[in-house]
Amino acid sequence: MTATIQKTFDAAAIVGEVRQGFDAGVTRSLQWRDAQLDAMATMLEDNADKFAAALNTDLGKASTESWLTEIGFTLSDIAHTRSHLAKWAKPRKASVPVTFQPGKAKVVPEPKGVVLVIAPWNYPVQLLLSPMVAAIAAGNAIVAKPSELAPATSAMLSELCAKYLDTSVIRVVEGAVEESTALLEQPFDHIFFTGGTRVGKIVMRAAAEHLTPVTLELGGKSPAIVAADANVEIAGRRLAWGKFVNAGQTCIAPDYLLVERGMKEPLLKAIKKSLGEFYGSDPKKSADYGRLVSDDHFDRIQGLLTGAGSGSVAIGGTTDRTSRFVEPTVLIDSDPESAVMSEEIFGPLLPVLETDSIDDAIRFVRERPKPLALYVFSEDDDTVEKVLAETSSGGVSVNGTLLHIGPPELPFGGIGPSGMGAYHGKTGFETFSHLKSVYQKSTRLDLKVLYPPYTTLKERILKLVQ
Ligand code: NAD
Repeated sequence: MTATIQKTFDAAAIVGEVRQGFDAGVTRSLQWRDAQLDAMATMLEDNADKFAAALNTDLGKASTESWLTEIGFTLSDIAHTRSHLAKWAKPRKASVPVTFQPGKAKVVPEPKGVVLVIAPWNYPVQLLLSPMVAAIAAGNAIVAKPSELAPATSAMLSELCAKYLDTSVIRVVEGAVEESTALLEQPFDHIFFTGGTRVGKIVMRAAAEHLTPVTLELGGKSPAIVAADANVEIAGRRLAWGKFVNAGQTCIAPDYLLVERGMKEPLLKAIKKSLGEFYGSDPKKSADYGRLVSDDHFDRIQGLLTGAGSGSVAIGGTTDRTSRFVEPTVLIDSDPESAVMSEEIFGPLLPVLETDSIDDAIRFVRERPKPLALYVFSEDDDTVEKVLAETSSGGVSVNGTLLHIGPPELPFGGIGPSGMGAYHGKTGFETFSHLKSVYQKSTRLDLKVLYPPYTTLKERILKLVQ
């Protein structure tokens, strides 16, 4: 497949063509934007089963999970965007201080231009289409590249977007590193990248060449703090779900737990009980439990599981390379300096560390790079407030996992090494818009006080009114 793509792939031509469409004004009108969003929704509705099958082929995803986290998620995003678009796109009146009177001011959201969207493989539908929803809403032309590591979904996205969307300004092109690299050499007006920190740096370096603004949606180790007073049944269930959905291949999955002393045993019991309820006594036989995306990824996870200092297995631990299966696994007594506690796990391993206090847990988090997500489980509002006030992360769910990604008016993005910029809802619209300031002065009056020659009187007047 790659050979065919390489032969026919001409990044400059693709970008040139959509730029022509953008320059011709194809994307400008709200009617066009709304029609494209509508067409994308129809594409998802008409082909929901096909997408679910592709996601099952690539990641062993259950169809309910695909609906919840990919197709249904994107459809809600489209519906929310369509119902708010007219309001978001309207020029916003700005107040004008006395020194600038008579005159008026407004902020006009305008499309940035031609944007590049690069997506990862773990939620290959949502993470390609959701940025595209925001980019279309803001009136941009788009070149979008799905991940080659979810090939069935990538092929479907490329084929169906060409069928349903306006290809004069929206192109979904398949490819791997070579194609990405060729695209990144082109001048874009914004680059929206979702993926790992290593490639994020490559993207930012390439963008610097053209001074292209970037949004980087990256990853990292997202901690979950479980206080001694947490509702242990609920915490166990919600942590087990958030960690093991998509076989742990979720950027905001709880990467490791920091559990107040005394809470570890009851929590492990609650996690084990929930895993039994979710996936039965043999998760390998469960249609609801996913598989790792590739052999390389399996080998990396296996290496983390058996690596020096990874600790001992408290729950799970079995693996099968032929089917890329790794059982939902909980580790205890992991060395904080070990590989499993240093690199982003991005798979179904969950180290559980004990801490003496919430202060210790906070210190542990603060000593490490700022995470994409942070979770805190406690029944005490003061404890929750303390954790919120004393830690920094892209987002937080309290007494829950993953769910802060859902409400469309919550910006979604990281901080520091977990990313820069954000999207979803109005934030996504603004990410892909330039907020242009417009000040319009009346010609009825032209006060000379601003103009040279400057005098003491003019200075006095200016100091008085400013
Ligand atoms: P990745 O960084 O390997 O790849 C992402 C995309 O970049 C793919 O489309 C790939 O083809 C392209 N790419 C790979 N190497 C490249 C190169 N040298 N030059 C240019 N482009 C290149 O990430 P992945 O393995 O697909 O996804 C896993 C990572 O993504 C994890 O770190 C995870 O936390 C992160 N992630 C973040 C979010 C988020 O919303 N913040 C969501 C999902 C995944």
